[in-house]
Parts: sequence; C-alpha cells; structure tokens
Amino acid sequence: MTRIAFIGLGNMGTPMAGNLVKAGYTVAGYDLVPANLERAVARGVTAAASAATAADGADAVITMLPAGKDTIAVYEMKDVLAAAAGGAVLVDCSTIDVASARRAHELAALAGRLSLDCPVSGGVAGAEAATLTLMAGGSAEAFEKARPVLEKMSRKLVHCGEPGAGQAAKICNNMILGISMLGVCEGFNLADKLGLSRQALFDVASTSSGQCWAMTSYCPVPGPVPASPANHGYKPGFSAALMLKDLGLAQEAARASGVATPMGAEAAQLYQLFVAAGNSGADFSGIIELLRGKTRPA
Ligand code: NAD
Repeated sequence: MTRIAFIGLGNMGTPMAGNLVKAGYTVAGYDLVPANLERAVARGVTAAASAATAADGADAVITMLPAGKDTIAVYEMKDVLAAAAGGAVLVDCSTIDVASARRAHELAALAGRLSLDCPVSGGVAGAEAATLTLMAGGSAEAFEKARPVLEKMSRKLVHCGEPGAGQAAKICNNMILGISMLGVCEGFNLADKLGLSRQALFDVASTSSGQCWAMTSYCPVPGPVPASPANHGYKPGFSAALMLKDLGLAQEAARASGVATPMGAEAAQLYQLFVAAGNSGADFSGIIELLRGKTRPA
C-alpha cells in the first residue's frame, strides 16, 4: 500500500497527513478551504482539486472531518468511492455520531469497499508527534489492511469491534473524562475552602483512590502539574467546545439506546453553560472557574 487520499486537512488532518508523507507514502489531499490545503502542501501533501481526484487510485482513503454529516457527504459521492484502487480501505478518523458511522459503513459496503470508523484521541500535539490513540470499528480484514498506515500516526491502535465500535469507544471515554474533570474541580475547590493546599491534595489524590488522568495530566489548578493548561491561562489543550461536542454525541447515543447517564447529562449541561459564557476556545479544565461562580477562567 503506497498511495493515500486524505480528505479534511484541518488542525488534526494536516499533521496526520504530514506524518504519512514522512513515513514514505504518496499522499493526495483535499480540503474545502484552500488555505488549509496549502498548509498540508507545505508538509509534502499533493493538492487535489476534488475529493474524487484525491481518491483516484488510492489504496486508503482517510477522512478527518468536523461531523457526521460531512463524512456522509463524502461517502455519498459515488465518484469518490469508485475512484479508489481495487481492494482499497476507507478510514474515517473524524469524531462523529455512532448512527452516521454505521451509515458510512453501509455506504462503503454498497460500493464494495472495506471500511473502518477510527476516531482518535491525543489532540493536535498527538497528531503532530504521531502518538495518537486510534480506536477502530469494522471488520478484521479492513483493520489488518489499514493497520500499517494507522500505525504511522499513532502510539496505540485498538480494534474495538464491529462497525461503529470505534466511535462508541471514543464517546464513552470522553464522557468519563468530562465527568472526572468536574469531580477533580470540585475536589480542588473544596480543598481551597478547607484551607488544604493544592499541592497537598494533589500529592495525596494523585497516588490514591482519587487518581485519574484529568488530575495527573490536566490538573485544573496551577502548580501541581506544570504542563497543565491551568498554568498557561487555560489555553488548550483540549478545548471546551470539543468536550461539549463529545458529551453531546454521548447523550445522543445514550438517548438512542435507552441508557441512563445522569452524570454525563449533567456534565453536558455544565459544559454548555461554560461555552455559552464565551469559553469555547478555553481548555476544558477551565470549567473550575465556573464552579467557583465565575464566568471566565482567570
Ligand atoms: P478542523 O475544523 O480544524 O478540520 C476539519 C477540516 O475539514 C477543515 O479544514 C474543513 O475545511 C474540512 N472539511 C469539511 N468538510 C469537508 C469536505 N466535504 N471535504 C473536504 N474537506 C472538508 O477540525 P479538527 O480539529 O481537525 O478535527 C477533525 C475531527 O477530529 C473532528 O471530528 C474532531 O472532533 C476530531 N478530533 C479533534 C481533536 C482536536 O484536538 N482538534 C482531537 C480528537 C478528535
């Protein structure tokens, strides 16, 4: 497998495509926004005039798009699916709703194509460093076919199961993260009022039963974790807007499958408030300020 089409060259897609170029693949890219396409060209991607041109003769067609409707729009373009090489695999790395992911697999199957839903975790920094975690849903055949390419963009690659399983893993993980960040924020806010130092709470909780990634990597107060966004004006990191998107997808899936997720629903509401207060571009850990009764991170 040598030729790759990359459709959607935004904040994530451009560095991911760049890493495929570095790994020796020929990458043809397409984006609706010419300036974004140009940034990818600067990393060695060949500009294509359309999604179908990018897909022409490709062994893998990777999409990295904002939402389910965007993935479906590309998968509904018959010329795109027809243009790829025989035996090509379609890989959607976007974070989208489970229903759209399953629909994308159906469209691929109708065109006789192998397909994976394969959302990513690790943000722009992980995309740059090729250290993303990738979670794939689809057949074992599609997974094995795409594996060599996916490994060039990731540190961890998990085959989660059938079509849609990658998206399911992504939204369950991020719902856990949103809820656990709120718990960590509440703990630090209570510690402040009790006169307990932040460092003391961190030293205890990060090595005992309160330990979690939201605390040890994204600690919402300045001090204990020097690299956390709290030390840098809550610059993301992982933006509140993306957290809200993922919590919304989790709520959609919970409603559709009749599962009670009261903490996830509460987290979605709190992040909605935080974003509505003008914080969509702030790191998601900045929500600690909302819980202190302030509308903006300090
Ligand atoms: P982005 O908005 O920067 O990039 C999306 C790109 O897709 C844009 O350049 C846009 O012009 C292009 N696009 C939209 N429709 C298109 C079409 N029909 N054909 C060609 N190009 C099209 O978004 P991003 O931050 O790169 O995120 C991409 C996906 O990855 C999203 O689903 C997001 O939820 C997910 N994600 C993002 C992060 C992150 O930290 N940014 C982390 C994990 C997952």
